[in-house]
Amino acid sequence: MKDIKTIIQILPEIYSITKDIENSLNSDSSYSNSDDIKLKISMIYQNLEQLFGELPNNLNLLNEINIENILNWKNSILIYVFKQSFEYLKSIYTNFNISPAQINASEIKLFLQISNKLNMDSTTNALLLIFLSELCRTSDPTLSFNLIMEAFEIKPDLGTILGATHLKNYIYNSEIINQQKKIKNCTVCGGQGIPFHNAPSYKMINYNHNFLPAKLWMKCTKCNNLYSQHFPLKFSFRKNPLKIIYPQQNQTQNLTPISSYILRDWCNILQNLKQFTKGKQILEIGIGNGELIATALEMNYDIDCVEIEEDVAQKISNLLECQIICCDFIDLPENKQYDILFMGDVLEHIDDPKKGLKKAYKLLKNDGVLWISTPNYESSFNKLHKTSTALWNEPWHITYFNKNGLENLLTDLGFNILDYRISTHYNGSMEVIVNKKQG
Ligand SMILES: [Zn+2]
Repeated sequence: MKDIKTIIQILPEIYSITKDIENSLNSDSSYSNSDDIKLKISMIYQNLEQLFGELPNNLNLLNEINIENILNWKNSILIYVFKQSFEYLKSIYTNFNISPAQINASEIKLFLQISNKLNMDSTTNALLLIFLSELCRTSDPTLSFNLIMEAFEIKPDLGTILGATHLKNYIYNSEIINQQKKIKNCTVCGGQGIPFHNAPSYKMINYNHNFLPAKLWMKCTKCNNLYSQHFPLKFSFRKNPLKIIYPQQNQTQNLTPISSYILRDWCNILQNLKQFTKGKQILEIGIGNGELIATALEMNYDIDCVEIEEDVAQKISNLLECQIICCDFIDLPENKQYDILFMGDVLEHIDDPKKGLKKAYKLLKNDGVLWISTPNYESSFNKLHKTSTALWNEPWHITYFNKNGLENLLTDLGFNILDYRISTHYNGSMEVIVNKKQG
């Protein structure tokens, strides 16, 4: 497959030429000998050979041109084009380095109209919809979203056909749409959003049946930040009472491989922060695999941490023999303030980042610093990788900022921007350091 755009354009063309031939044959059977019909057929051949190389035998020039042969031949040609498209689909399914050309909605609708006339089986039809959804992710996000949803509606076990191991036993349940929280306004400023990008969330290894297979990103017309239109209700209203997790010894540990590169990176981040504060008291919100806690302990910092997931908290507590507070950080008591506050990859997970940052402000000493990392949807990395970046597909994310969007919000909340860096932990993320505006 060389050029997907040409395929989308050529299909209606082939359809209209074959329709022409069909009509002419219907009205005059002697037409089958005319030079005109031969010319038209050879035009189709030329076009297809340019796209796909030599054609298979069943598509060879017809020995006898009559209406029945023409009808069979037309169907074979069109299905052949679809099959070639599926080969391309497979490559974009497995290969994150491909960002397909974006086609406008009218061309895709024409393609759909023709495919509807072919009586395809549900598998072929669903694969076609998935394929087309890739071609309008940014050019018509709503259409792209509807195409993925329809594909899973007509073929609930589509995941098994797409061949990814995490979808091996996945059966789509059409009720899932009713189990979503529909986010109607911008999660940052409350403004109105317009569809911006649709992503095939089902592709992600951490996708599960609570999420919709498609993720529609809305862009706020007021602050330019992005928010996910849907998020599972199940994960929206979790309230765990605060609990202190203590290390449990004599337990077999399941170790996650940690690269020393990440630890060195945390060391560099802590060293960089020394120019802004000499303080030693750290609070980390969301502990990941415990890399920062381990590095901070090595560098003789005094670190508290809060984690919402109890099993994560217990695991890291056992490993590093430290206490961890288990709760939503919003519920953290405000009786202690910190020199350094880490909010690494937190903001994109919450549907009220303003509330989260206000809480951070309260937990920070007057001369303390807040370190934030979060995806930047307009980062250099994301611009260079177009639709192929995992950021779009990530089912668990709700809010995305760009550099100005995050900095404007921080400034509005009384912070002062000190530093901006490109993350080396996560592709396409930014790292921002702020302190409280003085006076
Ligand atoms: Zn907004």
